[in-house]
Amino acid sequence: MSNEMDTPLIISASRTKDMVHRSPGLLAKLLLGEADCRWGPYAPFGRIDPAAIHSIVLWTKDPHALISHPDLNQTLWLLKKRFNVQIALQITATGFGGSFIEPGIPRWESVVETVQRIFQSGLIQPQATVYRFDPFLKIHTPGGRCISNINFPIFETLSRAFINLGIKRVTTSRADAVRYPMVAQRLAGFNLTLDDFEEQEAFRFCQMVDADCQHKEADFSICCEPQHPTLLKWGCIDGRWLNQTKGSAFPRATEILHNKIGRQRPACRCTYSRDIGYSTGSKTCFSGGFGCLYCYSQGSANPPHLEKIIAEIADFDRHPQDYLKAKGLHPSLHCAP
Ligand code: SF4
Repeated sequence: MSNEMDTPLIISASRTKDMVHRSPGLLAKLLLGEADCRWGPYAPFGRIDPAAIHSIVLWTKDPHALISHPDLNQTLWLLKKRFNVQIALQITATGFGGSFIEPGIPRWESVVETVQRIFQSGLIQPQATVYRFDPFLKIHTPGGRCISNINFPIFETLSRAFINLGIKRVTTSRADAVRYPMVAQRLAGFNLTLDDFEEQEAFRFCQMVDADCQHKEADFSICCEPQHPTLLKWGCIDGRWLNQTKGSAFPRATEILHNKIGRQRPACRCTYSRDIGYSTGSKTCFSGGFGCLYCYSQGSANPPHLEKIIAEIADFDRHPQDYLKAKGLHPSLHCAP
């Protein structure tokens, strides 16, 4: 496939489809140029030339397939060794994994363990990894309770575990039901309401998170929301950073902002990359067990296991602490309404 920027390419897989979890076999084929790939929802088809890749940025909430799926694991090693491709990771853990907010997503402790194994294998470097506490949100339940990860002790516990693995970059963003009204509609189907809390409250939380990251010698930036110039420091896909982490011995990827040549959210600071999640055969999360209720990429689809979600919401409403304890979740997720 020709590279329009005429520089080594950054591939993103994928911000809106967890390809590592859902389509690991297809992902391997696409990266090797063995299957047609699509660059975006309305973009043409083509084949990836592995020799033209600078970095692959993998987005996931369940990185297990990176070591357990033979085709994907071998492909990534081959790309790394033969073509000097840098494998970068955007690893997400919100604290909701395993709850009715994120059914199907592993608990954060197990994600930490898997990431540790990946780092130990040498496939991905901690320096090329971003920890995402993303999104943060507050949801009101039909029984008048509240569940939220806008809570500093929760952030501190999770971020400490990931930063202790050597990760130096941390980001977060606020769940967005204004730009994505289908999120509010999906939640309303469960009699749940996303709290439209003040921009200032979101900013204050991010200030605490930033101070904590500085204390831990990690670099924090907001991802798009809330928009604030002092904390919106870099993009999740950051060409300058990927060039640094890969090293000066290699040809550089472009550092031009994606929004200069394409269309991202207005506050997005990402540099130019190609998201291959739109390729034919790339499966959706809701069809495969993940069911994040706040997901904006699933359109108006319903998450899997509706009855189980409804039953869990009722459990939480009856005895929030018992529910959280039984699920092994942080007790502070239950918040004041
Ligand atoms: S369901 Fe949506 S938010 Fe959850 S992992 Fe998949 S793409 Fe991400």
